[in-house]
Amino acid sequence: MATGLINHNFFQDEVSRLTVGEHGEILVLDQRQLTVARWPKVEGLDPQSYRPLQPHIMLSRDASQMLFSAPSSFDGSMRLYSVRQTGNYPFQVAVGISREDFTRYVWDKAWLALPGWLFVAALTLLALRKHLSNLNQHQQLLRGNERIRESEEQARRILDTAPLALLLVNPQTLRIQHANAPARELLRLPPQQPEAAGRELNLPLKLQPVERWLLDGEDALQREIELELEDKSRLWAIVSLQQLNREGAPSSLIAMYDISGRKQLEQQLHESNLQLAEMAITDPLTRLYNRRHGDMVLKDEISRCERYGQTMAIAVFDIDHFKKFNDQYGHQAGDDVLVAVANALRDSTRNTDINARIGGEEFMVVFPYTRLRDAHKVMLRMQMALTHTTFPFVEQRITFSGGITDWRPGDTPATMVSRADKLLYEAKLSGRNIILCDQDTP
Ligand code: GH3
Ligand code: MG
Ligand code: MG
Repeated sequence: MATGLINHNFFQDEVSRLTVGEHGEILVLDQRQLTVARWPKVEGLDPQSYRPLQPHIMLSRDASQMLFSAPSSFDGSMRLYSVRQTGNYPFQVAVGISREDFTRYVWDKAWLALPGWLFVAALTLLALRKHLSNLNQHQQLLRGNERIRESEEQARRILDTAPLALLLVNPQTLRIQHANAPARELLRLPPQQPEAAGRELNLPLKLQPVERWLLDGEDALQREIELELEDKSRLWAIVSLQQLNREGAPSSLIAMYDISGRKQLEQQLHESNLQLAEMAITDPLTRLYNRRHGDMVLKDEISRCERYGQTMAIAVFDIDHFKKFNDQYGHQAGDDVLVAVANALRDSTRNTDINARIGGEEFMVVFPYTRLRDAHKVMLRMQMALTHTTFPFVEQRITFSGGITDWRPGDTPATMVSRADKLLYEAKLSGRNIILCDQDTP
């Protein structure tokens, strides 16, 4: 193949568009890889005097281009060569870039890209700041959650050490969130397992009327009420119910103080009072009213007659020869007779009539809304009842004498009793076992 020097001006035109840096070179190689032209120009270039361009490390190679590092045939410095076929010419063009130029190039480009880098860095900083701020918020949230958890834990500890029965309940689902030991005892809930400490109890609340209050959104403050438990047993308690504004799940605090013992005492006291009240007006032997109560009833009935103009009657009677009876059969037998007379009296009179033992063997009956003759009929019935009463060890018949009078305007208990007493005395004088009615009665 013919070789020769190419007109340098032509070559200059060809390569002027290429940039190879300060220490680069551009070579035109013949087919033996011998340099036939070089830029920068070498004066008096004799291609035969230079070694052909030998690749040191081949980086890439294809049909039209090779990329390799090689020492320069002219100055021996290592360059990166790109060798290409130039059109249909029997030449190849090798562009060699020195390492320093390449590094500077990269740096130059890097400087050119500085605004871009700064922009990216700014963006990265912003993103980082945002991320840090999110991280901070997240940490604050975590700390907040931790504080809430701690305060809830503390509240739970307070609930658990309180001597009152305390419950936390979800008012919508009526499920118990927390129950302290007194509440568990009160509601007969299973005891807390150590592994379940701190966890929600999640048991259904079976407690009336508290369930109803919760559903109605009703609050309660120290309400004294009878509670009904799941097994329908009942107990008295002072109950307070308060809706709580807890984060997350709604909650109601229920405080209960068992007062069943107090209620029982109150009931016993009430019954004792009733007994005392009854004792205060009752004759212990016959269970009839005593004189004091008989007088009081008589006074009330007189007032009623005065106010409404109605009538009423009283009977006073005394057992005949009771002393003899006592003497003959003994005091106990006498007591038995008194009880029998009281029973006969109860059987002969109506519930609305007031029977009282006003002395040893003396009795008084107050007949409200009753006319004299009707009261007389009752006393005759009583007389008949006693006639038929027999006592196991007493042969003697029991009789009584009595006097009956009715209310007149201006009467007092004393005037009425005195009139009835007078009639009783007359009956005794007349031979006993007689009931006398007031003759003045129209
Ligand atoms: P009279 O027909 O005139 O009423 O005669 P009497 O014997 O019934 O009347 P008297 O007043 O002389 O006697 C009443 C007696 O009643 C005297 C007393 O021993 C007796 N007596 C009074 N209270 C009780 C009592 O609680 N139990 C008993 N066993 N006897 C009583
Ligand atoms: Mg008497
Ligand atoms: Mg008597």
